Amino acid sequence: MAVRSAAGQLAGELRETIEGEVRFDAGSRALYATDLSIYRQVPIGVVVPRTVEDVVATVAVCRRHGAPILARGCGSSLVGQTTNVAVVIDFSKFLNRIVELDPDRRLARVEPGVICDQLRDAAEEHRLTFGPDPATHRYCTLGGMIGNNSCGVHSVMAGRTADNIEELDVLTHDGVRLRVGRTDDAELERLASAGGRPGEIYRGLRDLRDRYGGLVREKYPDIPRRVSGYNLDELLPERGFNVARALVGTESTCALVLEATVRLVPSPRHRTLAVVAYHDQFAAADDVLAILEHGPIGLEAVDETVTRNMLEADLLADDVALYPPGGAWLLAEFGADSESEAIDRARGLEAALTKRNGGASTVEIVSDGEGQRRIWAVREAAIGASRIPGKLETWPSFEDAAVPPERLGGYLRDFTKLLGRHGLPCVFFGHYGQGCVHARIGFDLKSEPGVRTFLRFLDEATDLVLSYGGSLSGEHGDGQAHAHHLVKMFGPDLMEAMRAFKRLWDPDWKMNPGKVIDAYAPDENLRDGPDYHPPALNTYFSFREDGSSFARAAARCFGVGKCRSLAGAMCPSFQATREEMHTTRGRAHLLFELLKGDPLDGGWHDAHVKEALDLCLACKACKAECPVNVDMATYKAEFLAHYYEDRRRPAAAYTFGRLDRWAHLAERAPDLTNLFARLPGARKTLGIAPERTLPRFARETFRAWFERRGPRGDGAPVLLWPDTFNDHFRPRTASAAVEVLEAAGFRVQLPRARVCCGRPLYDYGMLSLARRYLERTLAVLRDELRTEMPVVVLEPSCAAVFRDELPNLLPDDEDARRLAAQTHLLAGFLREHAPEFAPSELGGRAVLHGHCHQNALFGLDADQELLGRLVELDSPETGCCGMAGSFGYARENYAVSVACAERVLLPAVRAAPEALVVTDGFSCREQIEQLAGRPTMHLAEVLRAALSGTP
Ligand SMILES: Cc1cc2nc3c(=O)[nH]c(=O)nc-3n(C[C@H](O)[C@H](O)[C@H](O)COP(=O)(O)OP(=O)(O)OC[C@H]3O[C@@H](n4cnc5c(N)ncnc54)[C@H](O)[C@@H]3O)c2cc1C
Repeated sequence: MAVRSAAGQLAGELRETIEGEVRFDAGSRALYATDLSIYRQVPIGVVVPRTVEDVVATVAVCRRHGAPILARGCGSSLVGQTTNVAVVIDFSKFLNRIVELDPDRRLARVEPGVICDQLRDAAEEHRLTFGPDPATHRYCTLGGMIGNNSCGVHSVMAGRTADNIEELDVLTHDGVRLRVGRTDDAELERLASAGGRPGEIYRGLRDLRDRYGGLVREKYPDIPRRVSGYNLDELLPERGFNVARALVGTESTCALVLEATVRLVPSPRHRTLAVVAYHDQFAAADDVLAILEHGPIGLEAVDETVTRNMLEADLLADDVALYPPGGAWLLAEFGADSESEAIDRARGLEAALTKRNGGASTVEIVSDGEGQRRIWAVREAAIGASRIPGKLETWPSFEDAAVPPERLGGYLRDFTKLLGRHGLPCVFFGHYGQGCVHARIGFDLKSEPGVRTFLRFLDEATDLVLSYGGSLSGEHGDGQAHAHHLVKMFGPDLMEAMRAFKRLWDPDWKMNPGKVIDAYAPDENLRDGPDYHPPALNTYFSFREDGSSFARAAARCFGVGKCRSLAGAMCPSFQATREEMHTTRGRAHLLFELLKGDPLDGGWHDAHVKEALDLCLACKACKAECPVNVDMATYKAEFLAHYYEDRRRPAAAYTFGRLDRWAHLAERAPDLTNLFARLPGARKTLGIAPERTLPRFARETFRAWFERRGPRGDGAPVLLWPDTFNDHFRPRTASAAVEVLEAAGFRVQLPRARVCCGRPLYDYGMLSLARRYLERTLAVLRDELRTEMPVVVLEPSCAAVFRDELPNLLPDDEDARRLAAQTHLLAGFLREHAPEFAPSELGGRAVLHGHCHQNALFGLDADQELLGRLVELDSPETGCCGMAGSFGYARENYAVSVACAERVLLPAVRAAPEALVVTDGFSCREQIEQLAGRPTMHLAEVLRAALSGTP
């Protein structure tokens, strides 16, 4: 209690002092309690500085209060360095500007929150690049890369992050701000003779160099990937006494980086990939040196333990199919100024390997950009694919050791034997060109005996790496997992030197304490160790894929952070707000924390969790794009169902949630209902944003039209689902679908009674009602389902209910299984059941936008194929439109909704003023029409236009 009250005072003073955000509430602390590691420590609070001055002021206040601090970028670290009982300073939201990019001097000045690809994209405009590119390059930050001394595929070409840092602007906990870099002797003498703390630091560094230089030369392994330990070697005279590079890799334990000047290197204009397939990874490792002689700019490995998992988890299966047959692959990338030169280099390698290995390896040369991108996608997704929820749980900790590349084959053989002795499964991949092995090991961290095995294994594995002259970390840093064994690598004297180095920068031991130096033991602070026993909860959804356990579902996320990417469909609200709580990861962590119960103590009624879920658009992109298929839309609906168990929902829930009921009433007096919905009082009660226009009920519903007209033809019967949106608001779409289906040779019929899938109910967690809607639907459709009649659904979000929510709510119902399997979207149905259906070409252009649920569960291929035959088609990666049912209508969501649409979709629509805008989603159509003022068409309408020859 006293501790929290001290924290309260600290927070109060911070709020008075800085412009940025100060968050010491339980939700924010829970949110930042874990990274990608096996560890969890709840921070004191979180600060999100707006400016460098904010950082300086934050540190000053923390100093006065004796509070430890910890910097954070995107939090994708794997060994525990980004979690601590400290004040977390998150640089990613505001301090993310490229201050200057000087192509002539090949230098850039960046703030620490700049994303790796942000810099690489900017540099690429000048045919330059920032060399180190971790697999997380789409979202990891430069501050984090500097903190960890990160590396990547192109470290073969350009080295580690340390090798690419020219200068750093740093700040210590006791308030010293220095610009550090390479320091010649005269400068060093000048700086060392200065007074105060700066002079003390330089004198201390000089003494360390003089005292330990010999030992550093003797004991630091001379390998490309020595990342463990502090970079004391950078203080050696032959390295130019480079204080900036010495601080790289210190993982927030010495100083904060406020700005960095980084080196850029030429980026080859053309790249070609040689994919070399081997029988196993040992044979692959034995070839590394031979391949390096050909000068690749990247040399990576993927083992079959990765690709097997991907196939089992149905992750990137099409891309895995591009790999030639084999049990392990080396990906050798060649760069040159001309395409032919790059290909020639790859061919040179192919010839040499054929001569060297005979038929023991096969080489496939991939020179087209898209093919290369897909091959790399498999390698980059390897960490995500190291887990299959419910089947294989692997963990980071001993997973990035590096040995001399020439000894890699022997090391891997011995390492595999060691795993076998402990009975541990492992997934392998890595930067084999630099001797760095990623080994994701299936430790049992949930039981005491499992943890004992973990510790024994770490002990023996570190011995093994060191016997090969390697480094415990070749990439991810020491954090907590490796720190304990550093003494074996460096010996007690060098550990003392590192301790002295830290003390110079951080005399009060307040920078990320307990990490790297004098660290917690590898089995302390385990996130879900033997003492984690989450409660078994009654849930509405069955969560069968997670052993019928909500706790297991919530623990699916292990922190990869792909949802922090600013491209792709996942987490549209994060892309708009840059808030961790609006990522799939943040939300999943909060649900995990809800079960943990401390500091979050509100259970299903927790306001912090509710807040984080409020901006989830339930787009289901995570279900498709997240490497472990976290299904946040389902978790959100489940949470809301409990949250509202004993309280009233907002008025909108009873209107939008039960739209089908209102639509039924409106049928009798559509004009009156439209008028009523426009009354300011009604809009206010429903919380509608003033900028929004509510869709108008049509005078005649689709069903009424169909009843008047009746079915036609005698083809195979197909059931057309009259979803509420198209039935009541856009009946033209459904009537177009009838004509298209008839033209394709089918006889259309509608359900015998009024039905609704209940899609909007999920947005408000009305799950008991949703189940009743589904039971009624199954009762009405039973006969048709049992004759295997296909069900065509025009609205993707309704089709998604049948494919996704239905089997999860009624897992044992055979008819539910039938409906899930028999549900089609129009394009998919025509492709499967009428492949010969070919309306005549329309001509002109069209922009196609896929509804999120369509993208996540059905894919867009069939639509692209069909439309591609009729028009010149542009199908940009538009992500979520931002409307998402009633989400975008709500006053409080309007800004985020517009930001989502303005990211890619609306610019793409505006850039093609003559094009048809095609999308099947009712919400997407409303969003585009309201914000871009452009009419939209459902695929059914485009097909009908093609049939009649009039666009
Ligand atoms: C799927 C996956 C693949 C990965 N692949 C690679 C890979 O190929 N190569 C690789 O090297 N790593 C890899 N990593 C690890 C990680 O992504 C990298 O180390 C990355 O550079 C960390 O960046 P971040 O922004 O997430 O940093 P964070 O995790 O937030 O921070 C990393 C460290 O830097 C410190 N730090 C952050 N900002 C500052 C600052 N301003 N001043 C001082 N210290 C700071 C933090 O305190 C922490 O100690 C991978 C991780 C994942 C999840």
